[in-house]
Amino acid sequence: MHLRLPVSVSEALECLADGATPIGGATLVWAVWQRDGFPDCAMSLRELPEANVVGREALGAAVVLNQVDDRVPDVLRLAAGAVGTGAVRRTATVGGNLVGSTLRCLLPAALVLDARATVLETDGVREADLAEVVAKRPVLLSLQWREPLASTYRKMPGDAGGPPPLAVALASHADGGGGTRLRVAVRDGYDVLSGSAASATDDHADALRELRGTVFDDLPTDAWEVVGRQAESLRADGPAAR
Ligand SMILES: Cc1cc2nc3c(=O)[nH]c(=O)nc-3n(C[C@H](O)[C@H](O)[C@H](O)COP(=O)(O)OP(=O)(O)OC[C@H]3O[C@@H](n4cnc5c(N)ncnc54)[C@H](O)[C@@H]3O)c2cc1C
Repeated sequence: MHLRLPVSVSEALECLADGATPIGGATLVWAVWQRDGFPDCAMSLRELPEANVVGREALGAAVVLNQVDDRVPDVLRLAAGAVGTGAVRRTATVGGNLVGSTLRCLLPAALVLDARATVLETDGVREADLAEVVAKRPVLLSLQWREPLASTYRKMPGDAGGPPPLAVALASHADGGGGTRLRVAVRDGYDVLSGSAASATDDHADALRELRGTVFDDLPTDAWEVVGRQAESLRADGPAAR
């Protein structure tokens, strides 16, 4: 297998046109490739600056999970810190998690940030929404979002070999008109539900009521209680918190 390390977007596009398979930290693909055979050519984005950005409003796909620190909003930092073991987090990447894994602990966090993706296709770079990234699995270059007022994430403990544990992400955003919008995303099993509602009070009770009656209508009560507790912690963090 030939591993290519593009240093510019145009080089990455050439790799893609040549049929190179994207690779992150190889925490998932290595075992598969050993079993099924290695591709002729793979492409890592680890030398590509655009895929390594870490900031208040952007995160690159090649960033290793344990480098997702307090430079990003809390919700993403906490989500990355909840993935697997320390050994996995030292190697696995944002792109491998969002595009390549079935658990996708980062997805609820990205959803409540209302993140947009920048993806590479053979004919160039373009924006995509997260639903498309999950469904079509393009090569992910980076995520961008508007910084929230406050955000939080909670992943419940799970049983080894059992279903994915509940993961809950919340973020409050300035709505541009002087109000606040609450975004909530919940991974329940392998399903990820998300929605948003206008919030007129500090405790977000109105927004939670609206969301419970619509998007989260079928969510089990104990899961919704976790959402409520996380909304409390969002308030405790205050509007200046991340
Ligand atoms: C022991 C263990 C525990 C785990 N626990 C969790 C957990 O609790 N929560 C969770 O969410 N995940 C968990 N995972 C999955 C983990 O998140 C993935 O292993 C990891 O995210 C894959 O990242 P990687 O960079 O190693 O991807 P790789 O193994 O390199 O690639 C995986 C797939 O993603 C594709 N890919 C990689 N980068 C990109 C990109 N930029 N654009 C498009 N496609 C790309 C590859 O082509 C491949 O198909 C666990 C994994 C292990 C091994």
